[in-house]
Amino acid sequence: MIDLNISDDVRALLGEDLALVAPADLPPDPCIDCSKPFDDATATVSMVVLAGDGMVRVAFAHAACAPSGVRPLPDGYEPPAPDDRMTITALVVDHSGTELPVLVCESAVKAYRLHEQSTDDLVTDFLLDEGFTHVDQLHQAPPTVAEWIAVLFLDHVAPETDGLLILDPRGGIFFQGSLVLPDGWLQQADRHGQVVVYSGNAGLPGLDSDDARTAALAAAAQAGRLVGGRIGFTNAPATA
Ligand SMILES: [Zn+2]
Repeated sequence: MIDLNISDDVRALLGEDLALVAPADLPPDPCIDCSKPFDDATATVSMVVLAGDGMVRVAFAHAACAPSGVRPLPDGYEPPAPDDRMTITALVVDHSGTELPVLVCESAVKAYRLHEQSTDDLVTDFLLDEGFTHVDQLHQAPPTVAEWIAVLFLDHVAPETDGLLILDPRGGIFFQGSLVLPDGWLQQADRHGQVVVYSGNAGLPGLDSDDARTAALAAAAQAGRLVGGRIGFTNAPATA
């Protein structure tokens, strides 16, 4: 665990979402002020929030470089693109007795749009605009979102590592990267011709079993942190 400084104004701004953005380990991004990485496990780290234009971005600094606090967002700040540093976790999740193939998208970039009642991260904001819906339980799969598609490239990346492309209706790349498929995922995806996409902060990448990942996903849903939709699925033929 790192020693994290959080000022009162940061606490007031992020409120209940603070637990989701505060790292338990050293932040992956370098210090916002000196641009050097956090490489000492005993380091004291300051949480710095850049805020402006209804948007906030969470960053971190060495305690020696800056105190925790809220700063104005720099002019011309560009929100991260949806596929920027996103992780995807594949799971097979029981939805009221039906095993469905699930893809859970989590963005590593902590940038948020401020709403009156909540702070949605920018990826969530984008997906809601696209027709994805808030999810509060995993008993029932969320509605289909037309014209979105997930394309799987089996064994294209490396043996045992599959490539995945998720495209929006305009052909925009929402995600491209590799993933590891759990047992049964591909069979269920081929059978249904659809996969369930959930997006939000669920903390799955650090967990070491599918049971733990499924429990964390359910907890994230109950906490109102997920949006979801069912999208088309296709299994690209191998190009051997
Ligand atoms: Zn620094």
